[in-house]
Order: sequence, then structure tokens, then C-alpha cells
Amino acid sequence: MFNYESRIENAKNVIKEADYILIGAGAGLSTAAGLEYCGDKFKNNFGDFIYKYGFTDLYTATFYDFPTQEEKWAFWARLINLNRYNKEPLKLYSEILNLVKNKEYFILTTNVDAQFEIAGFNKENIFATQGDYGMLQCSKACHNKLYSNKELVEKWLKDTNDCKVPSDEVMYCPVCNEEMDVNLRKDAYFVEDDYWYKQNDKYSVFLNKIKGKKVALIEIGVGFNTPGIIRFPFEQLVKENKDYSLIRINKEHPESWNDLGNNLIAFNEDTNKIIEDLRN
Ligand SMILES: [Zn+2]
Repeated sequence: MFNYESRIENAKNVIKEADYILIGAGAGLSTAAGLEYCGDKFKNNFGDFIYKYGFTDLYTATFYDFPTQEEKWAFWARLINLNRYNKEPLKLYSEILNLVKNKEYFILTTNVDAQFEIAGFNKENIFATQGDYGMLQCSKACHNKLYSNKELVEKWLKDTNDCKVPSDEVMYCPVCNEEMDVNLRKDAYFVEDDYWYKQNDKYSVFLNKIKGKKVALIEIGVGFNTPGIIRFPFEQLVKENKDYSLIRINKEHPESWNDLGNNLIAFNEDTNKIIEDLRN
């Protein structure tokens, strides 16, 4: 890799000269932005759950099979409230918006925390492939409608007692009466609703529109959990289009599996600093 300053200069030029911006974002972006799944924030907010269930971090806690729906929703309400319904945008997301807001952009993300939308990115130009903390679905996917959980989460938070929500506040599927789940791609029952397909189509339209143009692909915090969604396709796009450049920001895996030559500008430095330096 070239030295940091020259990579920043190259990346700034790529963004400045780009006709279009395609952003790809993974878990590493929200971690860098301050949504923590372990450490003090977890301990301070989940003390009662840690005591009762022995949780060591929020990520593994999301896989816990709660014995009752009352306990399940008490836990999820708190998680969703913290990571999805924050009123203030996360600073890093706002800074990224400032970096690209004068260009036409599209965002492909595996994050389910809606932080792009909260920061003020145009919702129409965001495709969140893996779900949304803010939506509920039938756990058996008997129908493909999603239900906003905003009001339920508020109620659940307020009425949680001894790590449980009241039984009469548990929601069941209005069609088949099965349990509900958060709309997250974790098993074969993930619901892709009409809106999901609409955004999927918009992404295809965007990819067609940018053919032959100058494009800056900015990939942030995308690891190897699901590399087939963003990481590998982005490399392929840059490999096939000489006027595309990939700015990859990734602490652990800045490298590319494809030889992209000078069309790859890779960073393994601090994400917040990189975005700040790209803006200056
Ligand atoms: Zn159902």
C-alpha cells in the first residue's frame, strides 16, 4: 500500500471526479460509528439480563432461545430501542452523508439498524438486504407482510418487569397465530416483502445506469460473514469496469482477492479518521 496521505489524496480525487457513488456497508461501519455489542454500553444497559441469563455480549445474546415470548420481547425491545430508534444520527454516518450528498448515490447494506436513514440519506436509495430491526414478521413466514414495531417497542420498554413484558402485549401472527420474529435474515423464514423487492430492483436499475460512467465504490466495514452480497460483487464490478474505483475501508481485511491495480484504494486505518480526512 502507498502511504496514508497519498491514498487519501487518491480517494478524494476518485470521489471528486465520480459521476456516481455506490456505497457498500457492513457491520464494521456501525461498530466504528459507536453501536457496540460488548463493553460498557452492553453492561450498562443489559445488567439485569446479564445477571439472569449469563450473557457475555449482545451479539451472542441475539441467538439466545428465550423460554417465553414475554422474555424474548423484553430483551429485543431494549436492543432495538438502543440500536435502531436513536433520535440523534450517529456522527460517522452524518459525516459520510456530507462526503457524498452532492453526488447521486446508492447504498447497499447488510446492516439492519437503519442508521443511513436516520442520518438523513434518502431512503429511496438504500437497499438493506438482511432486514430491519424496526420490523416484525411471522416467524414461520406464512405471509410476506412486515409490521413496524415502533409503538410496541416503546410499550415493551415501559412495561418490562423482571426481564419480561406483560403477556397481553405479546404480538402473534395476525394470519396464522404463530410467534413473531424480528425481520432478520437468520433462517429459511426470512420475509422479503414488496418493499424489499422494490429496493432490489432499484439497485439493478442503478447498476445499469452507471455502466460506462465514472463510479466511486466506497465499501466500509464489510467482512467475510456474507462476502457474496457486497464484497465480492464490488470487486467484480471494478474488475470489469476500468472507470470504477473501489475505496475499501476495512481494519482486518483491506486486501482484494482480485488484482484491481490502481483501481483499489485500501485503508486499514481508523474509519472515523479516514472519513474526516476525505472531507478536508
Ligand atoms: Zn403467520
